[in-house]
Order: sequence, then C-alpha cells, then structure tokens
Amino acid sequence: MFSCWLSRLYWALSKPTGRTKPLIWGSLSRSLVLSSQRRIPELSSFVARTNTCGELRSSHLGQEVTLCGWIQYRRQNIFLVLRDFNGLVQVVIPQDESAASVKKILCEAPVESVVQVSGIVISRPPGQENPKMPTGEIEIKVKTAKLLNSCKKLPFEIKDFLKKTEALRLQYRYLDLRSSQMQYNLRLRSQMVMKMREYLCNLHGFVDVETPTLFKRTPGGAKEFVIPSREPGKFYSLPQSPQQFKQLLMVGGLDRYFQVARCYRDEGSRPDRQPEFTQIDIEMSFVDQTGIQSLIEGLVQYSWPNDKDPVVVPFPSMTFAEALAGYGTDKPDTRFGMKIVDISDVFRNTEVRFLQDALSKPQGTVKAICIPEGAKYLKRKDIESIRKSAADRFKQEVLPVFLKASRNWNSPVGKLIMEEQGLQLIRLLEVQEEDVVLLTAGEREKACSLLGKLRLECADLLEAGGVVLRDPALFSFLWVVDFPLFLPKEENPKELESAHHPFTAPHPSDVHLLYTEPQKVRSQHYDLVLNGSEIGGGSIRIHDAELQRYILATILKEDVKLLSHLLQALDCGAPPHGGIALGLDRLMCLITGAPSIRDVIAFPKSFRGHDLMSNAPDSIPPEELKPYHIQVSWPTDPEAEKSSLNHPCHPES
Ligand code: ASP
Repeated sequence: MFSCWLSRLYWALSKPTGRTKPLIWGSLSRSLVLSSQRRIPELSSFVARTNTCGELRSSHLGQEVTLCGWIQYRRQNIFLVLRDFNGLVQVVIPQDESAASVKKILCEAPVESVVQVSGIVISRPPGQENPKMPTGEIEIKVKTAKLLNSCKKLPFEIKDFLKKTEALRLQYRYLDLRSSQMQYNLRLRSQMVMKMREYLCNLHGFVDVETPTLFKRTPGGAKEFVIPSREPGKFYSLPQSPQQFKQLLMVGGLDRYFQVARCYRDEGSRPDRQPEFTQIDIEMSFVDQTGIQSLIEGLVQYSWPNDKDPVVVPFPSMTFAEALAGYGTDKPDTRFGMKIVDISDVFRNTEVRFLQDALSKPQGTVKAICIPEGAKYLKRKDIESIRKSAADRFKQEVLPVFLKASRNWNSPVGKLIMEEQGLQLIRLLEVQEEDVVLLTAGEREKACSLLGKLRLECADLLEAGGVVLRDPALFSFLWVVDFPLFLPKEENPKELESAHHPFTAPHPSDVHLLYTEPQKVRSQHYDLVLNGSEIGGGSIRIHDAELQRYILATILKEDVKLLSHLLQALDCGAPPHGGIALGLDRLMCLITGAPSIRDVIAFPKSFRGHDLMSNAPDSIPPEELKPYHIQVSWPTDPEAEKSSLNHPCHPES
C-alpha cells in the first residue's frame, strides 16, 4: 500500500551532492549550489492544506491540521480513510448532533470524492493502532469538512490489489495515476531527472538546450512521422532524435549540451517501444569514447536511488564480437551464465549427419549452451516446443543432450553424441549431472543468435520452475563497444547500412578499410546495456565533411542534398565531438521493475500507438485537410488494413 514509499523516495535520492566544482561565474555557481542543497521539499506550501495525509505521526499529536485528499473508504460511518499522494490517514467522523453537517458531508460523499478536512491529530485508543499503516498510531478528530468535488463515476476502484486490464487503465489514465505504483514511478522519474540535471549542469557545466520538433526528413535510421504543412507537397518530419541539432550545437561552440529530449519514431507495434519517448541526450566537444563513458558512469551513479544497491563503476565492457559469440546478441544479459560455447572441434570427425553438413560449409560451426539443472526443470514438452520453434522460426535444428545417455529419450543422436563426444562436451561446457545441453549447428551468426534467444527462453523456464537466475535487486550494466560501422541491409544484404547512424566515426585504425572493405570497418560506437536491455547508445562523430560525404554518398547511397546544411557546418571549423543518448523510459522501467515502459510514462500510447483516453489518432474532416493540400486515400479493404496494424498476440494495449 502507500506505506512509507514517499519517504523512501526522498531518502532514495537525498544523498549529498558530493563534488561541487565551481562554475565559471562565481555568483551563478553559488546560487546553483545553494539551490541544489535544498533537500527536503516543502509539500504544503501555497495550498489549502497544512500537511499531507501520509506524513502525520505521533510527533504531530495535538496539532490542528487541514488535509485535502480523496476518500479511500469508510467504515460504519464512523471512520473514513483519506488518501493523498503521500499516504493514508484515518479520520474519525464526529457522531454528536452539533456536528451533523460534517457527518453528512463525510458519510454521503461517494468513494474517491475529494474533500478538505480540518481537525486535531489524536492518538488512536490503545489496541486500535494499525502497525501496517505508517500513520497507524494516530487519527484525525474532525472539526470541519468541505466537499471539494464529488466522484460521480468510478470505472474502477483505486485499490492496489484490484487487477484491471491495461486497456481500462489507459482509458482512465487520470484515475490510474492515483495508484501508489504510478505515483512512485513518476515521482522517482522526476527526481532522478532532477539529479541528472544537477550532475550535468551544476557539476559539469552542461547547457540545457531545446531543439525543434518540427524538422525535415533525414536519411537512414527509423521511420519518421510526417507533419503536413500549408505549402503544397511540403512536409515537416518529427525528429527521431536531436542528432543533427546537437552536432550543430557543437559547431556553434555550445560544447557541452544536454536535453531531456522527446523523440519520435514511427516503428509500428513493438512491445517495449513508444512512438514518442524520452532521451537524456548529450553531446560534447573535444571528447573521446572513454570521456563519454566516464561521464555516463558518473551520471548513473549520481542519480541512482539510494534504496537500491549502489552502482559500481566503471561498468564492464565487451566487444560486439564477444557479445555475439558468447550471448548471441549485442545486448547481453550478464546477470547469469549459460554462455554460448563453440564446440565445433569436438565434432570434426562426427558421424552425425547434420553436424557434418554444417561443418563442411564456410562459417559452419557447432555451438551449444548448458542449461543448469535443465533435466530437472525443463519438461519434455518445453524441449519439444524449443525444437519446434527453432525449426519453424529460424529453420535451425536444435538437439537436446543429457549427461546420462539413458535420459536422451527418443533421441538416438543425443545418445550417440554422449557416447562418442561426451567427455569433451562435459569439459568444455562444465556439464553437471542434472544439466541439459542444447546444441545447434550452422552458420556462425545464425547459430549464436538462435542460442542467444534460447538462453533467454530457458532462463524464463527455469525461473518459472522457481530457480532464481536473475536477482531482481541486481543491476548489471555493460558497455558494448567496437561495433561494425556498417551492417548488411536485411532486405538486400549486398548493400550496407549504418549500424548506429551515418554520423558515427570509424575506428581510427580501420579508416583505410573504408575504401576497400567497408564491411570490415569497426566504429567508435558504444551502447550501454542494463540487464539485457539497451538503455543508451552513442558515438564519436565524423567531423570531417569530406569523410561524411563519402560515407553518405558512396557507401550508404543516400541523397547528400538532404544533409547539405550539416556538411556545410562541418566545413566551418567543426570541433571533434561525440555524444550519447540514454533511453529514459527504459531506464526507469528497469529501475522500478515495471512490467512495461508504459508504466513509467504518465500518458503513454497503447501497444498499437493509440491514446485510449482521447482516441488519438483521430480522423479530420476533408475540409480541414484542404489547407494542407492532402486527401485521404481510403484502403480498399479496411479490414485487411486493420489486421495488418494489429499484432496477433497483443490486444489494443
Ligand atoms: N541520436 C542517437 C540515438 O538516438 C544517439 C547518439 O548517437 O547520441 O540513438
């Protein structure tokens, strides 16, 4: 319930500022330091209450207080529990004739009506204290009460234990926001952003600059939302990030920029994405990769809630190639092992046909993961479904191998492997008696990526069986570095696209390869990963116009005219620079342990990108479209269109 989460929140974020480096202007620096040292916020200034409901304790006994809050519930018309963002407090409804009007107001107002009460803080009679309530030792003896507004409609009660569908929560978001969880998430978010601002601006001299949201189409990257303009055939685009602006700010000499930036990407339905989301966007001049990494480690450490285990810096680092080989992904969850092991050498002389076939091809490998106690926790149907999904979704064969040959039920290949290559497998994968090995063969990247997915699926299965693999209190940060500068395009692998974005600089030792084997060039791109989710990414940028033009035009085959402003700017004495952006929603989601990023955003869109409360996006009458010179071309089969927007396994939310 509301317990003492607010005090936990304030405590969580109230560590001293630590280093306070003076800024250039003495007086500015003094006032900033002073304001950042104000630690205990005044929660009842300027308003019609003296205290918050949740703050009252025995230390307030005898005080005359005025509270404003919502009626949580009423018992026998004698007690009323009042709630505000800070907690619950019990109010005693007066029973004597002289207070009949107060009694009437408090007994007749429906639950969730908003009232103002004034009275005295008294002790609860002995034996009636409620140790489960932080305010459980006291109650309010009411003198006056005012109904501020009555709650006439209540689609669901504001009780944490009541389960509601997400669609209903989103439709009545303003009510859902009253829940203690949403209050906690949004207040923690606000406080962490405050600490980040403090760290960046007050301790390190960053400048908070707002950049436009009405922009133009940019090459590469995600799909952009388009905004019609009144000029025929001309459109703005919503920026997928302030990337170009922040680089232009460097050219403009604002050499330490940051912004809590809204970004827009029209990426369709993806479970952990939102069409609009927030980044902590950063750019610096005269910096290298380690400079950015240290800045971010300090930022995370400084803004980290105190009620969580402290963050240890520096964060470990892994190359892209190591991540792919060991975890089958560029965002490894390093909270648990089960790493992918190359066992090709064990099978050089195998009799097993599909392994032989795989190894005879270029890039052919045999790879495996060992699931600890898999024989105990994975049921036969789990293994069958793993094999089926590998075959259906990835066109790959997966073979389960148990240590005891007798366990390799209906799998003559598994038995054969255990008999012939068993000892080597046991040694390489450190197999224990109850473990199961999942083995696959094929082209290196495909095999790793499949095992990377199976590693996570098996972790879910083990945890469903009660094994604690990923400690919820553990936050495992990781830098992934040395990405390739380009990757083959999915739809046409002969062409290249940027692995990060086209402004990323090549690794200094690989620049010569740009002109001969661009696919081999490593980049100065770094990603920050937390518990297997990418929470940030950035790069050192190209500041040489010629190199930027070559990459855009010759390698990426982009229309350089679209970026002529940036190319010109680079030619005007652009300093070397680099930056990063942290995905604030995802970071908050991981810190709060929320099931979805929607739970850390006040007014999120549904899974399909709809605002279920206001019904956006909405249609516009044709006459209102006229000034924009656009017309709707209605799909011939609206049902097919609808189902192409729908995701099979997700309802609206
Ligand atoms: N703008 C980049 C992004 O949104 C981040 C960066 O390179 O700084 O991914």
